[in-house]
Amino acid sequence: MIAHIFEDLCTGCNACVAACPDHVLDLGPATVPVIARLDQCQTCFMCELYCPADAIFVAPDQRAPEHVDPAAILASGQLGQMRRDQGWGTGDADPLREYWRLGPLLMEGAQRAVDRYKQSHPEWSPPER
Ligand code: SF4
Ligand code: SF4
Repeated sequence: MIAHIFEDLCTGCNACVAACPDHVLDLGPATVPVIARLDQCQTCFMCELYCPADAIFVAPDQRAPEHVDPAAILASGQLGQMRRDQGWGTGDADPLREYWRLGPLLMEGAQRAVDRYKQSHPEWSPPER
């Protein structure tokens, strides 16, 4: 699940809010996104992938939130690893590489997350894109 947004690195570009298939993030008052619906996160790493500032860390545990030490994450060099692994921001001629193959899986996960979230929040409906 998404574990931390590094406010000092964030530029407020909104890319993560738009990329998240599960509407986990809202743009906060200082334009830094807030994690508004963590229980809806499907650990798809899209927010981390789309963040051009490498300001997001998604922890690998899909079932439970993980408390991370931001300083340790910063020191570890893990920030931006997803982008580097996929060739984003490197000038690669084919920056998407194989990531598109995850599309159906991501859509299925998004629908499951919506269904699960609506069970506990029946008044909520996903915003139009
Ligand atoms: S990991 Fe996926 S579902 Fe979770 S906040 Fe990021 S984009 Fe949204
Ligand atoms: S994509 Fe990154 S820089 Fe842009 S708003 Fe989200 S956290 Fe901030």
